[in-house]
Amino acid sequence: MKLIFKGKKNLTSDIWKFDFEKPNGFSYIAGQYVQLIIDDSEADKRGTKRWFTLSSSPSENDLSITTRLVEEHSTFKGDLAKLRAGEEIEAGEPEGEFVLPKTGKLLWIAGGIGVTPFHSQAKYLLDKEETRDIILVHGNRSPKDIAYRELFELAAERINGFVYAPIVENFSSTTWTGKTGKIDEAALLECAPDLTDRIAFVSGPEPMVEAFKPRLVKMGVAAENIHQDWFPGYEDDFSGPQSAN
Ligand SMILES: Cc1cc2nc3c(=O)[nH]c(=O)nc-3n(C[C@H](O)[C@H](O)[C@H](O)COP(=O)(O)OP(=O)(O)OC[C@H]3O[C@@H](n4cnc5c(N)ncnc54)[C@H](O)[C@@H]3O)c2cc1C
Repeated sequence: MKLIFKGKKNLTSDIWKFDFEKPNGFSYIAGQYVQLIIDDSEADKRGTKRWFTLSSSPSENDLSITTRLVEEHSTFKGDLAKLRAGEEIEAGEPEGEFVLPKTGKLLWIAGGIGVTPFHSQAKYLLDKEETRDIILVHGNRSPKDIAYRELFELAAERINGFVYAPIVENFSSTTWTGKTGKIDEAALLECAPDLTDRIAFVSGPEPMVEAFKPRLVKMGVAAENIHQDWFPGYEDDFSGPQSAN
C-alpha cells in the first residue's frame, strides 16, 4: 500500500508527528501499528523498514505516526525527516492487539514515546464521546519531553473516569507541580491503588516494558491481564525514568 506524505509537526524538542493521507478503504483499530518501508540504497545496517504505531485515531481523516528524531539517527529516520509533501512511501497492513478491550478498568503505563498507542485510543474515545475508566501513568525525562500532554489533559477533563498522571524525573519546582521520580511501585500504587482490579497495558522501550511485567505480577496483577507493546531501537535512550527498578 502506498502512503502519501502530507507534512510533519514538531511536538517536543525531538518528537515529531508525521501525517499521511489515509488511503481509500484503509481501516484500523486504535492502538494498531504498521510497517513503513522507505527505499534507500545507502541504508545503514538497521535497514529500510520500521514498525510504527498509528498515533492517529481511526476517527481522524489523516494517518499519523509519532517518533523521536535524535541527532545521531538511523538512515531510516533521516529519510523520514527528508520526506516532502506529495512523496510516497510503502506501508504494510495494520496489525496488533494492543487495543481497547471491550470491558474492564484499564491501567496504561507509557515510557516516553511509548505513549503513541494511548494517544490513538484516547483521541478515539474523545471523538466518539465514550467514557472509560482509565489511569494513564506516563514517565518522561522532563516536562518539556512530554508528548500529547494537552490531549491527555483534555481527556481527563472530558472522559468520565480518565485519570492522567505524567511523571518526570528532571524538573524545576517553579514550573512543575506534578508527580516526580520514576514509575516505581510506590508511584504505581499512588496513581492506581486498585491496580489489581485493572487490565494493564505497558508500552515503551523494550527494556522498560520487559521490566514491568514481573513487577506488576509481584504487585498482584494477573499475568493474563498484562499486555505489552515493545519499541526496539531505544535501548540506550531509556534506562532512566521509565525503568521499573
Ligand atoms: C509494534 C511496534 C510499534 C512501534 N511504534 C513506535 C512508535 O509509535 N514510535 C517510535 O518512535 N517507535 C516505534 N517503534 C520502534 C521503531 O520501529 C524503531 O525501532 C525506533 O523508532 C528506533 O528507530 P531507529 O532504529 O531508526 O533509531 P533512531 O530513532 O534513529 O535512534 C535510536 C537510538 O539508536 C541509535 N542508533 C541509530 N542508528 C543506529 C545504528 N545504525 N547503529 C547503532 N545505533 C544507532 C541512536 O543514536 C539512538 O540512541 C515501534 C516498534 C514496534 C515493534
